[in-house]
Amino acid sequence: MKQINKRVSQLSDTKLMLSEYHLCNSCLQRLFVAKLGSTLLKRLVTERPQKKLVKCYICKNFFSELDTYVKKILDASSGFEFSSFLVGAVLKPSVLDKDDQVRSKFQLKGIDSVKTDITRELGRRLRRKTKARVEFISPDVTFTVNFRKETYEVSAKPVFLAGRYTKSKRGIPQRQNSCEKCRGRGCNSCHFHGISSFDSVEGKIAKFLYWKFGSLQIKMTWIGGEDNSSLVLGNGRPFFVKLINPKKRKPKLVKKVLAAGITINNLKIIGSIPKRVIRFKSNIKLQISTEKEIQTSKLKRIRNLEKNSISIYENSGKENKKNVYVIKYKKRSKHSFTISMVADGGLPLKRFVEGRNVIPNISDIIDNHCKCEQFDFNNIIVR
Ligand SMILES: [Zn+2]
Ligand SMILES: [Zn+2]
Repeated sequence: MKQINKRVSQLSDTKLMLSEYHLCNSCLQRLFVAKLGSTLLKRLVTERPQKKLVKCYICKNFFSELDTYVKKILDASSGFEFSSFLVGAVLKPSVLDKDDQVRSKFQLKGIDSVKTDITRELGRRLRRKTKARVEFISPDVTFTVNFRKETYEVSAKPVFLAGRYTKSKRGIPQRQNSCEKCRGRGCNSCHFHGISSFDSVEGKIAKFLYWKFGSLQIKMTWIGGEDNSSLVLGNGRPFFVKLINPKKRKPKLVKKVLAAGITINNLKIIGSIPKRVIRFKSNIKLQISTEKEIQTSKLKRIRNLEKNSISIYENSGKENKKNVYVIKYKKRSKHSFTISMVADGGLPLKRFVEGRNVIPNISDIIDNHCKCEQFDFNNIIVR
């Protein structure tokens, strides 16, 4: 009884104070339902003078225009596939100020802000329209409505992929240079891709993925590298891709994609790019030419490299060790031979042949200055 009396007196106080402000029903509900209870709140709403032409002091009648905003968000998100979403809003400072002002005047504590209420209402309606669910932690897409600038942004959570590529044509670089104008950030002249030509392995993979996922940019992570002139055979070189802002999240992927000189194999969607260092071995064929005539007796020493560790000295002073597991050689002419070997990934092949800060190296071993003319990858084995 006491409780109700207290509330009734609060109702008349509230009424009196509210005569200064006109608030819409949504704002009244949000601000006063906890204080008055729903029965008294209903009385407050019905008994107060009707001011149809006056806009809500706080939200300027935002809540009666919700459907217009929902439509604009849906327009902005057209083409995006998602099963979960989150709505964010940037409100005009005046709306937030007035919301704060009313709350402190009526000493309303622990009540949702106008921003929370707006995003929740938008979320509720979008859920009905899209059949997707609201998710706070890691939604497929985030809608940001900026009421100051009248903009509607959609950003999709990245999709990660793993795959392998083979390269059957020489002269294709592995990496693509960034767009010269924006240095990879994305600009009008590169159509926001960050790259403006597509003649490398990276460019060809990117082009395919732009089309397949409706993404504008990708970030590649490579497992090892090769020369422009190298072939990559066998199962191919593994790589990972992060797709930035993809429209599609689960397109059907085939086992093999041909892309002018390269083949993309076993592309599949993964949860994230592994953070650990990926250790791998490469099966490589090297074509080597020599300064002096080759002495077969010295060439035999190459076999001793098997199961030996090789030290690589970097300019930074760092020393790395790599192993050679199997190594075979074949003399081709007086001044040329080939090596087939299985070695740890990341061994700098040209330096290993020519002898720059790599010990032991082929030039020293056969006592003849060597040049690595070409190297191809027969396979890459991930451990
Ligand atoms: Zn309002
Ligand atoms: Zn650019």
